[in-house]
Amino acid sequence: MEIKNKNVFITGSTRGIGLAIAEEFAKAGANVIINGRSQVTEEVLATMTAYGVQAVGVSGDISSTDDAKRMIQEATEALGSVDILINNAGITKDKIVLGMKEDDFESVLKINLVGAFNMTQAVLKPMTRARQGAIINVASVVGLIGNAGQANYAASKAGLIGFTKSVAREVAGRNIRVNAIAPGFIESDMTAGLADKIKEMMQAQIPMKRFGSVQEVATAVIFLASQEYMTGQVLTIDGGMVM
Ligand code: NAD
Repeated sequence: MEIKNKNVFITGSTRGIGLAIAEEFAKAGANVIINGRSQVTEEVLATMTAYGVQAVGVSGDISSTDDAKRMIQEATEALGSVDILINNAGITKDKIVLGMKEDDFESVLKINLVGAFNMTQAVLKPMTRARQGAIINVASVVGLIGNAGQANYAASKAGLIGFTKSVAREVAGRNIRVNAIAPGFIESDMTAGLADKIKEMMQAQIPMKRFGSVQEVATAVIFLASQEYMTGQVLTIDGGMVM
């Protein structure tokens, strides 16, 4: 799929992996819709328009059905269509399962999984009419192999992988592709707070012995968006954790 001039909505794209994905699409000539829970700053939009593309800020909470519908509508009004959706926004609330409150479990599922469902459902109607589109869900290797202290997060990402494969089957005949990426440990705000000792332990589990960068994840997303005969797949970007 030609990326140039396509309109790409990236959830949770004011920082981290989402911001890097947006910048990589802008570099490739795509117009980008930047989303955060609060208002998107002019600075972020200027980073994108510097590549000669259009950039629109749309604020809202993906875990709200109404916000999801409104955000897709606002993006469509601003740019004419949403051709590619990247379900990137996500949170962690790490605790061992014995100490996990119901709300710790539910709130992670509500954003990481229900949020992706809300956005997908909102975008699929116009994509189905247009008979073209691509959706990429940002899962995690934790959804494939689990992680102690992240049962809620792992369940949400494993759920997102099942969701990806099911929706891919539903819409393949409409020329809409649905894939997922599963990053390993990536340098971002999500991992910045980890204690050095924990980081060292995590690095020891990675065959390539280093965390990935947000740009490395972003280039894999561009590949999945442009590849025209792949659907229902999970691409790991993890320095060899899952082989
Ligand atoms: P981050 O915390 O830096 O960024 C997450 C973004 O999502 C933020 O902009 C945040 O505001 C937004 N967000 C959170 N809840 C939202 C909501 N309800 N509505 C709208 N936006 C919301 O995290 P990151 O490391 O950039 O992670 C991005 C994605 O990559 C997440 O889905 C995460 O699970 C996944 N991931 C991260 C790593 C890693 O090591 N950093 C590894 C594998 C997968």
